[in-house]
Amino acid sequence: MIEKIVSVLSNHFGFSSFRTGQEQAIRNVLDGKDTLCVMPTGGGKSICFQVPALVMEGTVLVVSPLISLMKDQVDALHQLGISAAYINSSLSSEEYFGVVENALAGKYDLLYVAPERFESAPFIQQISKMNIPMIAIDEAHCISQWGHDFRPSYRMMNKVIASFERKPVVLALTATATPAVREDIRAQLQIDENATVMTGFERSNLTFSVVKGQDREKFVKDYVNKNDGEAGIIYAATRKAVDQVHAMLERTGVKVAKYHAGLSDSVRQAEQDRFLMDEATVMVATNAFGMGIDKSNIRYVIHYQMPKNMESYYQEAGRAGRDGLDSDCTLLFSSQDVITQRFLIDQSLDTSRIPAELEKLQSMIDYCHTESCLQKFIITYFGETNVKICGRCANCTDTRERLEVTVDVQKVLSCVIRMGQRFGKTMIAQVLTGSRNKKVIEFGFDKLSTYGILKGQNTKAVTDLIEFIISENYLGVENGQFPIIYVTEQGKEVLTGNIQVYRKQTVETKQIAKDDP
Ligand code: ADP
Repeated sequence: MIEKIVSVLSNHFGFSSFRTGQEQAIRNVLDGKDTLCVMPTGGGKSICFQVPALVMEGTVLVVSPLISLMKDQVDALHQLGISAAYINSSLSSEEYFGVVENALAGKYDLLYVAPERFESAPFIQQISKMNIPMIAIDEAHCISQWGHDFRPSYRMMNKVIASFERKPVVLALTATATPAVREDIRAQLQIDENATVMTGFERSNLTFSVVKGQDREKFVKDYVNKNDGEAGIIYAATRKAVDQVHAMLERTGVKVAKYHAGLSDSVRQAEQDRFLMDEATVMVATNAFGMGIDKSNIRYVIHYQMPKNMESYYQEAGRAGRDGLDSDCTLLFSSQDVITQRFLIDQSLDTSRIPAELEKLQSMIDYCHTESCLQKFIITYFGETNVKICGRCANCTDTRERLEVTVDVQKVLSCVIRMGQRFGKTMIAQVLTGSRNKKVIEFGFDKLSTYGILKGQNTKAVTDLIEFIISENYLGVENGQFPIIYVTEQGKEVLTGNIQVYRKQTVETKQIAKDDP
C-alpha cells in the first residue's frame, strides 16, 4: 500500500515525500478508520484527502465552507489532470444539474460541496445514491460551538453520513483546534480518540514579537522601509484602518495592495492578484484576506491591532514563511484594542457564545502581556504539553534584567482577596494606589490594610502589573457582565511563598522594587 500512495504522491502531485502526519492520516482512512487530522495552516492537509481520492473507488466528498476557494482548488486539480468539481451557491441551476449528473455517473475523483447544501433533503438524497468511499470535512472546527467559526450547517454532517447505505470513512481536518474543540469534533463525528493525527504546531522559522506603546503608523512605515522589497501582510481590524495604512504606505512609495469586504469583488481579486504575482510587495488587509492563499515567500506578517483570539492570530501570522525561511510575526498592541474587541463581541448576535468568545479574547490579551516565550504560549494554547522555549522570539531574546517581584505580586493578590474577588482591574489598581475615587470610598476599601499599598506607582504601572500577573496565571479573569478578577490556585502558591515571581524590568517597577523593604 505504501508504494501505491507514494507513487500517487509523486506521479500526480510531484512531491517526493510526505510531510509529517500526511502518511499516517492517509493510512488511517485507507484502513477505514474515521480520523481527525490537526495540522497547522500550510501543513499540507489537502494531500490527506486528495491522495486517498485517487486510490479509492468512487468519489471523495470534500466539505468546505470556503466557497470562494473551491473554484481555485478544483482548477488546481484540473491542472494536475485530476477530475474534480464543486457545488456551491455560485453555480447556475443548469451547472448544478450538470455536476450532479456527472457525479451520479461517477465521473469525479473529488467533489467539493458547501456545507449549506446539507440543509437540502433532496440534495442529501441525491448524493446518497453516489458511491462515496470517504467524506473529508475541511475546517472541521466549524462543527463546534466552542470553535471560533461555528457554522450550524456543519451539524447536519451526522445526518448526511448516516444517509449512506455504506458508511463513508470520515476525515475531519482543522488547523486550529484547542483541546476542547478537538474533543467536540470527535464526539460529534464519533471519531475514536486514538484516531487523531496531530502534527506539531511549532513553526520553527517564525519569530514572534509583541510591540506595545508604539506609534503604530511610524512603526509600520519604518518596518516596511527597512524590509524593502520583501513580501509582507499587514492585518488591521477595520476597513478604515486598512485604508489609512494603505494610503500612508502608498505615499511613501511602497508598492502596496489592499483587501477588505468594502471593496468590489473585481477590485479585491485584482489586488489579491497583484500581491500573489509580486507586483505589490505589501498587502494591507482585514482578516477577510488570506484564507487558502498559497504564497510561500511572505517574510513578515504585522498585526496592526490585536485580533479577537489566538486561533485567528496564529492562522493569520502563520501565513508568513510557508517556504520554511525565517520570517517575522509582529503584533502591535494597544489597550484600546481590548475595548474594540470586547465591543465587537458584545455586538454579536448569538449571545450564548459571548462567554466563550470573551474567554478566548482573554487568552489573546494574555499573549500580549506574557513575558515568557511567545511561541511556547501559542503552542501550549493549542494543547501541546512539555513545550520547549523557542529561543528566538522577542521575549526569549529580551536581555532586560529579570527582577524578583514576588512581594509586589503578593500585595496585589492579597488586595484582590480582601476586596472579595468581585472587581475588575481598574478598581483593584485604584485601591492599591490609594485613590480617593468615590466608589473606592463607598465600598469602604480605604479601610483595607492593602489600601494604598502600592502608593508610589501610578495607576497605569499597577494596571500593567495586574495584566502581567494575569498573563502568568496567578490571577484569573471571569467574564460576566464585567470582567472579575480572582486569585488562581497558582496565585495562592505565590501568597504562601511557594512560588517566586520574576519580571523583566521596566523603569517604573525598578523604582518601586527599591522602595520595597
Ligand atoms: P493546509 O490546507 O494545511 O493549509 P495545503 O494543503 O494548502 O495546506 O498545503 C500547503 C502547501 O504545501 C501547498 O503549497 C502544497 O502544495 C504543499 N505541500 C503539501 N504536501 C506536500 C508534500 N508532501 N511535499 C511538498 N509540498 C507539499
